[in-house]
Amino acid sequence: MYEGAVQDLIDELGRLPGVGPKSAQRIAFHLLSAESADVTRLVAALTRVQESVRFCVTCYNVAEAEQCRICRDPRRVDDVLCVVEEPKDVVAIERTREFRGRYHVLGGAISPIDGVGPDDLRVKELMTRLMNGAVTELIIATDPNLEGEATAAYLARLVGPMGLAVSRLASGLPVGGDLEYADEVTLGRAFEGRRRIDA
Ligand SMILES: [Zn+2]
Repeated sequence: MYEGAVQDLIDELGRLPGVGPKSAQRIAFHLLSAESADVTRLVAALTRVQESVRFCVTCYNVAEAEQCRICRDPRRVDDVLCVVEEPKDVVAIERTREFRGRYHVLGGAISPIDGVGPDDLRVKELMTRLMNGAVTELIIATDPNLEGEATAAYLARLVGPMGLAVSRLASGLPVGGDLEYADEVTLGRAFEGRRRIDA
C-alpha cells in the first residue's frame, strides 16, 4: 500500500484498541504533516510511559513510584476498600469525588468464555490485604455486565466469612455497560446508593 516507514506506522496504529484501518491511516497522515515538536512530545510521552509507569505494589493501580498517588495519600481512609476491574475505573470513581477510601484493582473480571478465572486476577492479593483487619467495608465496583456481576458474586462469597460489610454499586448504571463510560452524576449516585450484599 504505502512505502516502508509510513506503512509500518499505519500497521502499528491499527493494532491499538478501537483504531480501525481508516483511522490508523488518518492518524498516520496527521502525524506526517504535524509540527516536528508535536511529534517529539508524543514520542517522549510514549517512552516515559514505557520506562516509568508500573503497577502500585499495594493496589495495582498505575503508579510512577512504588505506590500510587492514592495509596500514598494520608488523607484517605483505610477502613473502606473499593474493588475495581481496571485502573481506568479508579479514574472514573475519583471523578465523582464520592469516595475517600482506598482501591484494589483486580486486573480484569472473571470470564469463563475468555478463560479468565480468579487465579488470573489479583484476588489472592485482595485477600491478603483484607487479612490484617483494617478494612471493615468492601465496595465491589466491577462493571455492570455479565463478567462484572459474576466477579462481584464470587468475591462476596469469598469474603463472606470475614464479617465485612460488602456492598455493590446501586442500579442506575447502564446494564451491560462499562463503568468508565458512566457519567459522573450516575456513577456518583450509584456509589451513594450502593447496597449491601449478604453472602
Ligand atoms: Zn495504590
